[in-house]
Amino acid sequence: MLSDINRRVFEYSESNALAEHRLNRWAHTEWPDWHEETEDIPEEFEGTLDCPECGQSWLVMGYHDKPFCFHCNTSIDADVCDDCCETFLVKRGCQCGKHRGEDHERFGALLDQVRGREIRERETRLRRTE
Ligand SMILES: [Zn+2]
Ligand SMILES: [Zn+2]
Repeated sequence: MLSDINRRVFEYSESNALAEHRLNRWAHTEWPDWHEETEDIPEEFEGTLDCPECGQSWLVMGYHDKPFCFHCNTSIDADVCDDCCETFLVKRGCQCGKHRGEDHERFGALLDQVRGREIRERETRLRRTE
């Protein structure tokens, strides 16, 4: 039990150390004048955001072609909502509903199909009773 927790804590700090390492390496190429010893983060750097994929705060936006998470070590199809300030996956949408994900649209289309069928069925039923 305890060793299991220890292992998990170790893995957690390991993966975070790795993410930090990747971020620092990238920051040094982005801001070659940055001195890690005197500044925690480069002055121009706006900081990291919460990654909607892994839930860790290692996401940077506006520097790569796509938002990049240094914890996932891959680009994330993410966006930030102006209203609820949530970092969300584009395909999933945000929690306040301003940004609707693809899933929602697909669900909506499916719903329309079902509704359309219901209406058609009701119409044929009505026609029969007439
Ligand atoms: Zn991530
Ligand atoms: Zn929102």
